[in-house]
Amino acid sequence: MNLDTPLVYVKGVGPFRAEMLEAKGVSTVNDLLHYPPFRYEDRTNLKAIGRLAPGEMATVIVDVREARLPKMGRKNLGMFEAVFGDASGRTLTGKWFHGAYLANVLVEGQRVALYGKVEFDTYKGDLMMMHPEFEILSADDEEGDSSLHTGRMVPIYEAAGKVTAKQLRVIVHRVLASIAPLDDFLPATLREQLKMPTRWDAIRALHAPPEDSDIRLLNAFRSPAHIRMIFEEFFWLECGLALKRNKARTVEGVRFDLNDRVREKIKAMLPFKPTGAQKRVLGEIARDMAEPHPMNRLVQGDVGSGKTLVAAEAAIVAIENGYQVAVLAPTEILVAQHFAYFKNLFHKLGYVVAILAGSFKPKEKEKIRMLIEQGLAHVVVGTHALLEEEVKFKKLGLAIVDEQHRFGVMQRLKLMEKGAVKPDVLVMTATPIPRTLALTIYGDLDTSVIDELPPGRRPIVTKHVMSSRVEEVWSFVAREVANGRQAYVVYPVIEESETTALKAAEKMFLELRDTIFPKLRIGLLHGKLAQSDKEAVMAEFKAGRIDVLVSTTVIEVGVDVPNATVMVIEQAERFGLAQLHQLRGRVGRGGNQSYCILVTEKLGETARDRIRTMTESNDGFHIAEMDLRLRGPGEFFGTKQSGLPTLRFANIIRDSELLEVARNEAHAFIANPPSEDIFRRAVHYIRENWQRRYGLVQVG
Ligand code: ADP
Ligand code: MG
Repeated sequence: MNLDTPLVYVKGVGPFRAEMLEAKGVSTVNDLLHYPPFRYEDRTNLKAIGRLAPGEMATVIVDVREARLPKMGRKNLGMFEAVFGDASGRTLTGKWFHGAYLANVLVEGQRVALYGKVEFDTYKGDLMMMHPEFEILSADDEEGDSSLHTGRMVPIYEAAGKVTAKQLRVIVHRVLASIAPLDDFLPATLREQLKMPTRWDAIRALHAPPEDSDIRLLNAFRSPAHIRMIFEEFFWLECGLALKRNKARTVEGVRFDLNDRVREKIKAMLPFKPTGAQKRVLGEIARDMAEPHPMNRLVQGDVGSGKTLVAAEAAIVAIENGYQVAVLAPTEILVAQHFAYFKNLFHKLGYVVAILAGSFKPKEKEKIRMLIEQGLAHVVVGTHALLEEEVKFKKLGLAIVDEQHRFGVMQRLKLMEKGAVKPDVLVMTATPIPRTLALTIYGDLDTSVIDELPPGRRPIVTKHVMSSRVEEVWSFVAREVANGRQAYVVYPVIEESETTALKAAEKMFLELRDTIFPKLRIGLLHGKLAQSDKEAVMAEFKAGRIDVLVSTTVIEVGVDVPNATVMVIEQAERFGLAQLHQLRGRVGRGGNQSYCILVTEKLGETARDRIRTMTESNDGFHIAEMDLRLRGPGEFFGTKQSGLPTLRFANIIRDSELLEVARNEAHAFIANPPSEDIFRRAVHYIRENWQRRYGLVQVG
């Protein structure tokens, strides 16, 4: 047996179980060893039932005294009950709703381990556990040695289909007993310096914790073995990313010249004085652009922080050096808006700005493609349509990608192939994420943060209103409009039911126009409108000829109308945090006090957390962090798109401080490896393991 042995060949697995393990991504011996327990039970010094206290989480080993499906009159409610006892003479009842299936599982006379929260059943005057986890210890289902399951620190695995935690324990035990000790690829000096166990010791301790282990450390994933494996996972990931970045630094790109003439042009373009943060970030960008290698920079900035202005400055640097600039945005509305923004800023400099969107007629597209190909357009703003093969640039020097989280990493790369040489790439995102996290998710990008809002902004006031009191919201909107302001009213679009949301928006539009605000000018905007119609509606709103704009979430990103001061979000419970924050960012863009009103039905628990986060905070970083916590990293980033690796031991949120350490060590190691030999071994290991597993890390 070695690490690559398929599990089917391990005694006690067989094709049926192998298939279920495979579904969990566990196919080989190596995978199994990297399938960590999610919890541990200390079954060494067990309490007797008589010594349990209500409120505590406890494990007990007990006998089944009675097992039954109690009836209420003639009806069986599907509740399963079992009475357990032990030598203390006391009993404890376990209850399972919808537990009918247990009638054939838990039977009188069995010995079981129970784990759960101890409660006091005042009705019966006895101790009980609701839905305790249990493991049958007496059954002899070819699981041999009972000393594996009792009298020690017992690892609890997540069941894989029908393969139970107990069976997994047996299989892992067999594997550990029959394979050769694992090699350790982590540099020994590093391991000693950080006082970490070897890989083999760590893996064994995870699956079979030594007697003197601290159960609290185990369950907090902070035992020495856990720390070692978490560290290692981060370390290799960060090494891979560092190697990838180093390699990018050897690629040839454009060296832009930032001379006085360019500075003059920028000055002539600026409509206002940049903030300190904008200046600093432009400095970082300019330094990259002056390098002979392609820039790969991510600019993070909360909504309204003025990212577009910085992008425009970078564009001038490229154009004045004789290059073209591509601006990629995720929606046609945003593209239209960027187009207007850049045209407005650049017309005094004599630049030609073009726009290309998927919904354009073939003739139009053809015309614009010619402009691009002949180099007559200096700036081209577009959606995905810009990425199509037929679009050829004469001399692309800078690609700006707005709202990165909407685009896959692949698309970013595709854009880079568009120039004769690799263009500089500037990515802008309004989904700020904690720094270390950004460095890992966007590990191959350098990052800049615009952490300052333009002057004179007042924090947006956010309120939660139940839909039964929506009348008050409408009177408030009417008052703001009477003061010369404008408002948005947004309806959620949930992917599968865009038409439903559309209907809701249309219905509301009619109601607002005809009944609620008969004297106001109401507009309607949604994704199904033709591009030209969308542009027309936005232009009307921007020009102040629409008072209240009813919209689906097409306005989520980027729309900029400083006179709008009210954002009403209907059915706000259906939006995610990031989306709510984005939507809120559409107001508060001018000097007037702005408001965001979240209208909801009755709330569930997580929805309540989201709404509370919104009413308590205006800080995009804080909100992103809450979002990450509430949803977990996978869903937050949409793993596939982001290239976020699947980690087996580590958790980017829980273990962020270890990530920081691993990152520093990885950089030191790559920059200054202890020896050529150790370095080569490490690179080989990364290539063999990480490249295949995560795709993200492409080395060499
Ligand atoms: P975002 O970072 O959300 O893309 P924008 O670039 O759309 O933000 O800018 C938000 C608003 O702030 C715009 O109306 C823009 O013109 C304005 N703005 C940007 N920079 C400044 C500045 N330095 N001073 C005043 N207003 C600014
Ligand atoms: Mg923007």
